[in-house]
Amino acid sequence: MALTEFDLIRRYFTHTARGVTLGVGDDAALVRVARGAELAVSVDMLVEGRHFSKGADPALLGHKTLAVNLSDMAAMGAKPRWATLAISLPKVDEAWLSGFSRGFMALAKRYSVALIGGDTTRGPLTLSVQIMGEVPPGKALRRDGARAGDDVWVSGYLGEAAMALEMMGGKGWRGLSKEDRRTLEERLHAPTPRVGLGLALRGIAHSAIDVSDGLIADLGHICERSGVSATIEWEAVPAIPLVRAHAQTDRGARGLLAGGDDYELCFTASPRRRAAVMAAAARARVRVTMIGRTERKRAAAPVTVLDSVGKPLKVKARGYDHFR
Ligand code: ADP
Ligand code: MG
Repeated sequence: MALTEFDLIRRYFTHTARGVTLGVGDDAALVRVARGAELAVSVDMLVEGRHFSKGADPALLGHKTLAVNLSDMAAMGAKPRWATLAISLPKVDEAWLSGFSRGFMALAKRYSVALIGGDTTRGPLTLSVQIMGEVPPGKALRRDGARAGDDVWVSGYLGEAAMALEMMGGKGWRGLSKEDRRTLEERLHAPTPRVGLGLALRGIAHSAIDVSDGLIADLGHICERSGVSATIEWEAVPAIPLVRAHAQTDRGARGLLAGGDDYELCFTASPRRRAAVMAAAARARVRVTMIGRTERKRAAAPVTVLDSVGKPLKVKARGYDHFR
């Protein structure tokens, strides 16, 4: 017999969680916010055909749906605590639901996030998570905190997700080794949110953002909000050898600088705090790389990329006017 809406919620989306006064099952959940803490709140929606393709692995989708939200908490330096999940489903598909909730809950558990409620309705496949986290007052890592003369840093490696997206299904994709394909796919489908790094950078970074739209665009957001410009060095942008080699091509270069979906953190900090940044990264066990500097606001585009001889890089990138 087909599951009712309530069976479905009970079976797949009801979990006991410590530290929650009242979770799934009532008209609203009740949680206790740490005394004096600020609540960081963010919501993200994933739509089939737009953010993922039909037939996407449900467990990976469950992971990614939460991961992109955790990444927003990371970028704020907030400790993720609670999430709500709104799902629109074309039909009750138990295999799908079980995979999705497994992927979602595994990540929730890893970051001690409680699923405290949601909404379930019939419709085109759409997944929306609202996440809530705590941050001590005034300590959030905001986009508007960069100062001219800051170092610009980025965590991890960029460009893998963009390369996966670009090549999947095409000739280039078939030309890659199995291992390379797996590396790229994993980055696209199962990103690792840099929550620990975000927390470790509180009180050190002046500003932060997660790289979801592409490095140039996202660093551009910091610049605009902070009233500064930035110059970064092409050769310093961290990429694994596979991506670096692909970046010899125009499309590859564009993927590295302007591709999204990496979910690394881009942040700025005073040059006097380099040792503190490195120590924070070591504590969070994440690699960080200094890629450039912020400066007083210029009239031109907020972000300039310099090539190996210090010339502004022109990447043919129709649609991305950040490269003008
Ligand atoms: P209401 O009619 O008050 O909106 P619902 O019948 O939609 O309540 O939901 C019943 C309970 O199940 C609520 O506590 C709601 O938060 C929870 N819930 C519904 N869908 C989900 C879901 N996908 N994930 C987690 N909790 C859910
Ligand atoms: Mg409802």
